[in-house]
Amino acid sequence: MAAKELKEIILEVWRREIRMVANPQKRVITVWPADKVQDLAEALKAAKPELMRRLQKPKGWPRYEPFPPPWWDRIALGFEIAQARLRECARCGYPVSVLVENCQQPGWYCPKCGKPSNPKGNGHASKRSLSAST
Ligand SMILES: [Zn+2]
Repeated sequence: MAAKELKEIILEVWRREIRMVANPQKRVITVWPADKVQDLAEALKAAKPELMRRLQKPKGWPRYEPFPPPWWDRIALGFEIAQARLRECARCGYPVSVLVENCQQPGWYCPKCGKPSNPKGNGHASKRSLSAST
């Protein structure tokens, strides 16, 4: 599937406020509300492998920690989440941070409030160490 096409689908999902939850074990994505999905069903089916990949728990996500709604299925779809780690958000206290790579400011973000998650809350201090280590 072309990247542009996928982006269109994701934008439409956001526009219609469609929610989705992936069950990777069963290879199923539950999508709702049904009346907003009907005419998108074919497009969503075509995008399923990519959507499934983006909706799954990233490497490092604590097994016991469920995804924080609604951030995950609203936002995770649009980004490459490389990994996760235990690091408390300074703003909302959510215990997990995710590393987002394909955004304007790659770095660690809180998956609950969507803000950069660094202890001082001053942008992306981790960006420097990230580029230095690669
Ligand atoms: Zn937060």
